Amino acid sequence: MFARSAFRAAAPLGQSFRQYSSNTVPKASTATPWIVAGAALATGTFGYTYLGNQRDVHAEAYNPGTKAFTGGDQGFISLKLIDVEEYNHNTKKFKFALPDEDMTSGLPVTSAVITKYKGPEDEKPTIRPYTPVSDESDKGHMDLLIKVYPNGPMSTHMHNMSVGQTLDIKGPIPKYPWSENKHDHVALIAGGTGVTPMYQLTRAIFNNPNDKTKVSLVFGNVGENDILLKEEFEKLEKDYPERFRVFYTLDTPPKDWQYGKGFITKQVLKEVLPDPSQENIKVFICGPPPLYKAISGAKKSPQDQGELDGILKELGYTKEQVYKF
Ligand SMILES: Cc1cc2nc3c(=O)[nH]c(=O)nc-3n(C[C@H](O)[C@H](O)[C@H](O)COP(=O)(O)OP(=O)(O)OC[C@H]3O[C@@H](n4cnc5c(N)ncnc54)[C@H](O)[C@@H]3O)c2cc1C
Repeated sequence: MFARSAFRAAAPLGQSFRQYSSNTVPKASTATPWIVAGAALATGTFGYTYLGNQRDVHAEAYNPGTKAFTGGDQGFISLKLIDVEEYNHNTKKFKFALPDEDMTSGLPVTSAVITKYKGPEDEKPTIRPYTPVSDESDKGHMDLLIKVYPNGPMSTHMHNMSVGQTLDIKGPIPKYPWSENKHDHVALIAGGTGVTPMYQLTRAIFNNPNDKTKVSLVFGNVGENDILLKEEFEKLEKDYPERFRVFYTLDTPPKDWQYGKGFITKQVLKEVLPDPSQENIKVFICGPPPLYKAISGAKKSPQDQGELDGILKELGYTKEQVYKF
């Protein structure tokens, strides 16, 4: 009943998605929309503003400067919190100063950082991974979008932090290494804050005028006011209608909601994702443990992706076609 009603709501959009997912991206010479977009990016006229970045790095030779996070035996570095923004009812955006204002984070795409905190009563420190929402080319700061979980030790600690305090952060924690046009079509399945690694990859693809990868995002949330980075994704859909689409699902949708209702179902994924028989596709997934369990099977450990299971296996995807963040 639940799944059927989810699909009913999704059906008309699902059909247009199926068409979108099975269309290959036209080559640069025939695709006017992205000739315009590519030219604009190359000349730096809007490429960075549309993803909310202040710096126009394509207008001049981009100098990555010194990297704040170098990995290896660098260990944790202590970063000062310089700004906190209320983002929505349970999420805040934290801006941390990098050690030098000319430094970039040094994080490759895709990668994360880990944060560490030990409260006065704690026996051992809490360590959690996060993916910055600031751009890899941004200098002097790194931004994290953090949702608070009741009794979640790290997110509660961070939501209680004040400007001027410091947090121990280590990186990069390498994930799936991206290079331009590595895949023809990537499908991103995210639940809640699991969207931040997807946003990192999407930024890298659309900030690079040479990268022609097509992107489909399936994004599940509780309510409409839980959807993170919605404006950024809407802008991308508008600027790249042939290469970027988002399909939202909500557990508690508003009355006039036009996307999916309920959890991300098998039928939604069947309609929205590129077919597993298509060459050179990759499916990425990130979200709470129940999302992995239902859709891809759990990850065994940070180093071990575990077997592919769940809906993606039933739909015929192979282990090699799927990456669990
Ligand atoms: C690669 C990666 C990147 C991440 N990036 C971000 C990010 O940018 N922003 C952010 O807020 N979180 C992100 N997370 C989740 C983050 O690492 C923590 O799990 C989260 O902040 C909860 O930590 P906690 O110590 O407060 O609570 P915990 O005690 O760890 O968890 C509290 C509750 O939240 C649930 N939970 C844990 N992780 C998630 C999740 N990802 N989605 C939904 N429910 C969850 C747990 O099952 C538990 O019920 C990311 C996770 C991964 C693996």
